[in-house]
Amino acid sequence: MSATIIDGKAFAAEVRGRVAAQVAAMKAAHGITPGLAVVLVGEDPASQVYVRSKGKQTVEVGMNSFEHKLDADTPEAELLALIARLNADPAVNGILVQLPVPDHIDEAKVLAAIDPAKDVDGFHISNVGLLATGQKAMVPCTPLGCLMLLRDLHGSLSGMEAVVIGRSNIVGKPMAQLLIGDSCTVTVAHSRTKDLPDVVRRADIVVAAVGRPEMVTGDWIKPGATVIDVGINRLPPAEEGAKGKLVGDVDFASVAQVAGAVTPVPGGVGPMTIACLLANTLTATARANGLAEPEGLTV
Ligand code: NAD
Repeated sequence: MSATIIDGKAFAAEVRGRVAAQVAAMKAAHGITPGLAVVLVGEDPASQVYVRSKGKQTVEVGMNSFEHKLDADTPEAELLALIARLNADPAVNGILVQLPVPDHIDEAKVLAAIDPAKDVDGFHISNVGLLATGQKAMVPCTPLGCLMLLRDLHGSLSGMEAVVIGRSNIVGKPMAQLLIGDSCTVTVAHSRTKDLPDVVRRADIVVAAVGRPEMVTGDWIKPGATVIDVGINRLPPAEEGAKGKLVGDVDFASVAQVAGAVTPVPGGVGPMTIACLLANTLTATARANGLAEPEGLTV
């Protein structure tokens, strides 16, 4: 194995440490405690785990955590009314509605209802537009985490050839915008891309955000390239009653033979996502109060 294994777990802990230090400084200097409200509709088990983890880490960095759990059959109007209350609440600096929402609720309407200044997920159309035009936005957490890992590894990304596999609104597209912002030459590949392995082979940076277990193999990778694996896929369990293994979109064993650096799954991009949510909440609080942007936590 030749690749450096990028330790996202350790880097996320460092980011949370930086957030905690800046939260403490904000409290001491201005008497302001950032607050993050997380809204969960229904009882999806994976969403419950995420929400619990977000609440715990929010408190650990010294912020206030507000959890709102609504029944699965909550009418859309009730959810929108809650969002309106959170928008108006000065103690709430960040609002996150855990996705997916139940089918009877219009996700686009919900995302549009969140005050863009408190939209710590960066999914509001205003933030999408600000990011696309190179202005100060709230940046979606997972791509922001990937960018932080890449900057930490390489310093400047200027002039590097990047291939993003996946064109979703929450990962692929914002990732491409961020890489353009850092002066990479960016290709966005997707399910209709022809000769995908050839496209990927020209990349200095590969970001895989597909949702297909171990799709990207070592023979797709230019020797020495950096490979960021966003995918989280659970394989079928080997025996009944057991939990299937978690794997990424990258075949770690073969890619690690060729790449210069690669993120593992778990322990790569995943932990960075919540760390960046906390970073975004701090950024939103600073902006709302006319304070300086937090250092090293925004783009
Ligand atoms: P999505 O389903 O919205 O998008 C997948 C994209 O992959 C699409 O744009 C599609 O065109 C492309 N695609 C599908 N099949 C392809 C193929 N054969 N070749 C090339 N491209 C193909 O998914 P998403 O929300 O962007 O998530 C992608 C993966 O990242 C999932 O595994 C998801 O669980 C994971 N994820 C992880 C985190 C994290 O915190 N680590 C956050 C979000 C998503």
